[in-house]
Amino acid sequence: MSESITCPACGSADHADLFHTKDHLVTGKEFLIRKCNACGMGWTVDPPAESDAGAYYVSEEYISHTDRKQSISDYLYHIARGFMLRRKKRLVSSVTGKSTGALVDIGSGTGYFAAFLKQKGWQVTAIEISEAARKYSENQFGLKAIPPEGIKNLPSGSADCITFWHVLEHLYNPSEWMTETGRILSGNGKCIIALPNFTSADSEWFGKRWAALDVPRHLWHFTPEALRHFAGRNGFACEQVVPLPLDLFYISILSYRNQGSSLTLIRGLLTGAFLACRSLFRTEKASSLVYVLSKSPSGTWNPKA
Ligand SMILES: [Zn+2]
Repeated sequence: MSESITCPACGSADHADLFHTKDHLVTGKEFLIRKCNACGMGWTVDPPAESDAGAYYVSEEYISHTDRKQSISDYLYHIARGFMLRRKKRLVSSVTGKSTGALVDIGSGTGYFAAFLKQKGWQVTAIEISEAARKYSENQFGLKAIPPEGIKNLPSGSADCITFWHVLEHLYNPSEWMTETGRILSGNGKCIIALPNFTSADSEWFGKRWAALDVPRHLWHFTPEALRHFAGRNGFACEQVVPLPLDLFYISILSYRNQGSSLTLIRGLLTGAFLACRSLFRTEKASSLVYVLSKSPSGTWNPKA
């Protein structure tokens, strides 16, 4: 998306340039972050055009990382992933009130979550833009993810749950995805959105060096308040906000690694533990948050289909 004149979450015209931050993963290029003074939403100014965005993703490296078990951090990553899969599944069941049902996972990546839910009896549709990631999930799990345009073919009102696990911040047209989500979701279905938290303790600690800025792949840097505005403007109501505790440690380690620090694992874990203690029980300070949305009866969503 090109530079917005008004805040993409709340529509306020009161915003300011915050700082420049670097793309540590691929290009080393710097990008400006702008912040809304009303809701705290941040956004990446002048990101690459959507048609060029693929060049900023290194999917091959990402995919090989998912199965590597060479170092202590790889080992911890695998334990954490198992823990998070079970936690995510419990959340889906608790918010939908269903032990099985129809779920659409948008941005399914290498397919771990979608395959896990399928294995637990859910009827899962996985949507993924990267062809390499789609191939991986098919080879690894027999899971046939579909490309993004396939969402148009999903029947209206057919899904009990639609999930965006760290995906919305990458999307060039997030409102269009929410419109499709509103169309596909059943009347009492739930939409689950996990996002890095721009007001988190680790965001404040690391500032422009916060790894979850991840420019220019992350176009939007949501705060809880910004997400509530965004949800409301797209016909949803935010019912619940749940912290994702482990992301703090991962992001802290990565933030030190990006700076070229030594002892990144130890420093990341210690800083994570320190920040976790300091912001204990303060949801709005958690590194990542999961938002549970329902279709708002008073919202702008219009069931055209
Ligand atoms: Zn705003």
